[in-house]
Amino acid sequence: MKRAVFLDRDGVLTRALIRDGQAHAPVTPAEMEIDADAPAALARLKAAGFLLVVVTNQPDVARGIIRREDVESMHATLRAALPLDACFVCYHDDGDGCDCRKPRPGMLLQAAQERAIDLAASFMVGDRWRDVDAGAAAGCRTVWIDRGYRERAPDHMPDARVESLRAARSGLWGTEVVRPRFLIYLRTKPISRLFT
Ligand SMILES: [Mg+2]
Ligand SMILES: [Zn+2]
Repeated sequence: MKRAVFLDRDGVLTRALIRDGQAHAPVTPAEMEIDADAPAALARLKAAGFLLVVVTNQPDVARGIIRREDVESMHATLRAALPLDACFVCYHDDGDGCDCRKPRPGMLLQAAQERAIDLAASFMVGDRWRDVDAGAAAGCRTVWIDRGYRERAPDHMPDARVESLRAARSGLWGTEVVRPRFLIYLRTKPISRLFT
């Protein structure tokens, strides 16, 4: 069984696009910007033996805001730049009642089945309540990059809530909240390091 880090896309691997306090997905490939910290962070995780699996909701496809080909093109760009092992995408919206749209854990469960992932030894990293709740529903430990969006908090208490370098450095996460032997550093935007 392998360990994985499940990664949300927007606001985690890519720069958060925030309007009126709300997170938005890029609507053209040109608008998607890979976060400057992501390559080093993922290389570190990869070296620590984690499978790196993107799990992303892209409801703008169902809403007619972006074409599916453009989302696929963005993911080709991500996979070329980052050491990702797999990328799972939910193209549905709430009304579709699918099993894959986070906070449902369908994408994580499917990945676990296909790749023999030990969910209890794995992590979900995301910037919204949907990510944390999906990770918890799958039985993973969860890291919430809390960017202060104007929206509800997760139902499940994240194992780590990261908002500043100072908080991460306090050692709180490393020794008490995120067990065992995990430290998470936040630089200015997303995780810059997550390692054993
Ligand atoms: Mg996000
Ligand atoms: Zn779905």
